[in-house]
Amino acid sequence: MSALQRTLFAQHGTADLLDQAYSHARQYSLTSGALPAFPAKATLSLLKEFDEALPIETGNASDIIKLLAETGGKNTVHYSGGRYFGFVNGGVLPVGIAARIVADVWDQNAALYVMSPIAAKLEDIVQSWLRDLFNLPERVIAGLVGGTSVASLCGLAAARYRQLSKLDWDVTEKGIFGAPDLRIVMGTQTHGTVFKVLNLLGFGRQHIEWVDSDDQGRMLLDELPSLDERCIVILQAGNVCSGAFDDFKRIIPMAKKAEAWVHVDGAFGLWAAASNTFSHLTDSVALANSWSVDGHKTLNTPYDCGIILCEDKQALTHALHQQGSYIQSSDARDSMIYTPDMSRRAKGIELWACLKFLGKKGVSELVELLHHQAIYFAKCAKNEGFEILNDVVFNQVILRCQSDALTNETLVQIQSSGICWCGGAIWQERAIIRVSVCSWATSKRDIEQSVAEFSNARERASLIISDK
Ligand SMILES: *Cc1c(COP(=O)(O)O)cnc(C)c1O
Repeated sequence: MSALQRTLFAQHGTADLLDQAYSHARQYSLTSGALPAFPAKATLSLLKEFDEALPIETGNASDIIKLLAETGGKNTVHYSGGRYFGFVNGGVLPVGIAARIVADVWDQNAALYVMSPIAAKLEDIVQSWLRDLFNLPERVIAGLVGGTSVASLCGLAAARYRQLSKLDWDVTEKGIFGAPDLRIVMGTQTHGTVFKVLNLLGFGRQHIEWVDSDDQGRMLLDELPSLDERCIVILQAGNVCSGAFDDFKRIIPMAKKAEAWVHVDGAFGLWAAASNTFSHLTDSVALANSWSVDGHKTLNTPYDCGIILCEDKQALTHALHQQGSYIQSSDARDSMIYTPDMSRRAKGIELWACLKFLGKKGVSELVELLHHQAIYFAKCAKNEGFEILNDVVFNQVILRCQSDALTNETLVQIQSSGICWCGGAIWQERAIIRVSVCSWATSKRDIEQSVAEFSNARERASLIISDK
């Protein structure tokens, strides 16, 4: 036996370490209600404990887990508490975390059916449930990836494959150099990740026809260029600041008629399609060719869970093509053909658990809950004299104070309060505070407490500014 094996067998079997890990996890979840939304400065300084050179000698597993749980656990950001409104970071459903813990111990690779029948089975089930929830056609397939960024990469790779193949250009054979030009049509308010993946796919700024947007961040229809079969049109379900939806009902049928490919970035907003309340926002969204959406935002699955949905299986699988004589495919689901990765954690397991737990009714209730809480947030903030800049059509609220300087300093004060947390941005050339209600756990009381802190923060901020 090697020295390393001796240490591994002698120290702790997996079971003992799991007991320890479980008791740390349990402690964290029982006391996390008392954690600040963001760690205080003094707590952050504990992170220094991790600074060391790579150890030479093999260590003690139990000590490592203890350090991680105790020092690491104090320096987490508390999305699942009710007062975290940053980015569009979702809370987490307990059933999702529990399913993940069970499956983590299995340590399954979801690439192929022969690597994990259970992972393949549950991904297959989740695929059909997602079609059902979003009212998508039977032919739509789903791939599970890290997030909407990668999902958009997959959808736009499929778009590139299909649009070029219509022009008699097989991109998997001939590549992109010398290929016929494609036209990318997208709004000026498109999420930054889309531009990043377009770059990865070989499309520079020159290929993009930017469409101006209205005061909510929606594409202006009058500005839409005339479309043809060389176009890839990228629309948005949920602007990352305002939550606004592009006008699918008017744009998608027109684009499809012109034989353009339509991709929808629906990172958090596509879930609106799972509730009748928002049918005015998602009308015709099912007519698109591909959609990217996250589980880890609106649905509150554990991180990380992005989903690519595509109605053109051939385009997606050819675009993500991989070969190798050792690959053993089967008649069952081989998930790697739907994603850029080969080896991959079996994230379909916790997605399955969350969907099975919520059911159709629960998903739509969750989506509506986030919306109603956002409306309540806006109402309370308005009563406190904050200006609300967007129509709260989904879960996002844009606020500001009387001046950019006051808005920025108020945000600094909010972020260091520990009571709640949100981020900022520039919206129509003005500094704003962004509020994203994205956790099932956010209560009215959380909102009232947070808005009270907003007011206090603004008071502190105006004293600081007048001192300057
Ligand atoms: C969050 C978000 C993304 C990026 O998604 P990730 O899951 O972080 O990769 C893209 N588009 C929109 C509209 C988003 O809100």
